Amino acid sequence: MAEATPKPEQLVQIDYRPPARDWMDPAVEFRKGTFCYSAAPKNLQYLGLPNPREWQPFDKDWKLPANWKEIILAGMKERLERFRSFRLFMDICVRCGACADKCHFYLGSADPKNMPVLRAELLRSVYRRYFTTAGRLLGKLAGARELTEDVLKEWFYYFYQCTECRRCSVFCPYGIDTAEITMLARELLHLVGCNINWVMEPVANCYRTGNHLGIQPHGFKDSIDFAVDELEEITGIRVEAPINKKGAEILFVVPSADYFASPHYYTLLGYLMLLHEMGVDYTFSAFASEGGNFGLFASHELIKRLNAKIYSEARRLKVKWILGGECGHMWRVLHQYMDTMNGPADFLEEPVSPVTGTRFTNARSTKMVHICEFTADLIKNGKLKLDPTRNDRWRVTFHDSCNPARAMGLIEEPRFILRSVCREFHEMPENTIREQTFCCGSGSGLGTDENLEMRLRGGLPRANAVRYVKEKHGVNLLTCICAIDKATLPTLLDYWVGGVDVAGVHELVGNALIMRGERRTTDLRGDPLPGQEA
Ligand code: SF4
Ligand code: SF4
Repeated sequence: MAEATPKPEQLVQIDYRPPARDWMDPAVEFRKGTFCYSAAPKNLQYLGLPNPREWQPFDKDWKLPANWKEIILAGMKERLERFRSFRLFMDICVRCGACADKCHFYLGSADPKNMPVLRAELLRSVYRRYFTTAGRLLGKLAGARELTEDVLKEWFYYFYQCTECRRCSVFCPYGIDTAEITMLARELLHLVGCNINWVMEPVANCYRTGNHLGIQPHGFKDSIDFAVDELEEITGIRVEAPINKKGAEILFVVPSADYFASPHYYTLLGYLMLLHEMGVDYTFSAFASEGGNFGLFASHELIKRLNAKIYSEARRLKVKWILGGECGHMWRVLHQYMDTMNGPADFLEEPVSPVTGTRFTNARSTKMVHICEFTADLIKNGKLKLDPTRNDRWRVTFHDSCNPARAMGLIEEPRFILRSVCREFHEMPENTIREQTFCCGSGSGLGTDENLEMRLRGGLPRANAVRYVKEKHGVNLLTCICAIDKATLPTLLDYWVGGVDVAGVHELVGNALIMRGERRTTDLRGDPLPGQEA
């Protein structure tokens, strides 16, 4: 696939002239590099999901069940009754176009069906035909379309070209959230077995072992032990990293990428140092070994099934409250769904920092605090000894990951931390950060190389803003608090920018943190600290 990806100077030639074809024509070309492959049948079987089979999106015959149309329409009816927002979003769009140029996939591809309004219209046109009087009577004149196999294929193509980032919803005067429309469209596709492997394999793994990679408990323990050994080499201090410790005060849940992937792993080292230095009584769980939840990219039912383990482990381990690591979609689930889907968590206490005594009243309902909230509170209360010069090799900017920024408003805490742990911090342009942040282009399960061209197109607006601060301020490090960002931004930046690395915020915290009794000559990546180069 990599050879097929056009060079940056070719990909940046984006033709925004409208296509000659009527938008109602659903024919889609499944061109390599612009779509994701189908889910392997074993993953659907494991989860008990319908219609597992061998097929690919570019096949003519998708091997749909004979009554696929009835299944989809019945599923749509049920969801229109269950989700008030879904019916509202189908009815209230006035097609003002305020969202049209806000989607990174439209900006990077110029495909009008990547405008949020038109993406939603792909579903809305079918809604009109089967669920409104005007659509039934007037058909095309009322913007209604028959549900055909070509329409279904078009749904698959474009609803897996939306990263559910919600940028468009910030600009919609009616608050229409196209991400929710995408979520429901994907649910409908699932009813007839049209899903992608990059989502369903992690979901199946997570359901079986508690994490997306399918790492067994002993493998999880090995990874944590390895990090403890490595930290001892770097700092001279042996930290504790308890697993399944009953009666600990806090359960700590991180995305599984933190203990195996790079640069995520350096974030894990930062957490371990911080929690040790503050003497926090916490535990990991070998079963709740994943905060991420790819169920979010599949269906509400799968969100709930994968999320259930977190409260369940908190109950089993008898902790008081839960702390969560750096992740994007993990926090959307924890913040927006967990307490209603799997709560109430009335067996837990309202979180209180054991170090500062701060009561996290914002987490009264979920009983779960973000590590950035926890660390920012430590810094604000003067509990951390920090030497920001240790991060002097970096000129830093911050990418607001979509979900923490837009789904939970976690905007100031990471910036406050970064300004405390490094000396060169530069913001990207205003319309590309905070609530208006641009997606990495690979969220919601689209971060696979099969889909590389579309990822690079979708990531262009983000990369462009990074390039701006690189050229203006010499920025060489993009920090973020999302596991998917950490996995996919390096490829994006290498392609569009060059010379800019990616790191988690807690990696820089770990670099700057002065631990009692430490003997350090390097940062967490093993590079010499300033003054230690010799
Ligand atoms: S901004 Fe809102 S109302 Fe306007 S076209 Fe987009 S979704 Fe429809
Ligand atoms: S949610 Fe994000 S990816 Fe989806 S249509 Fe809106 S801006 Fe585009």
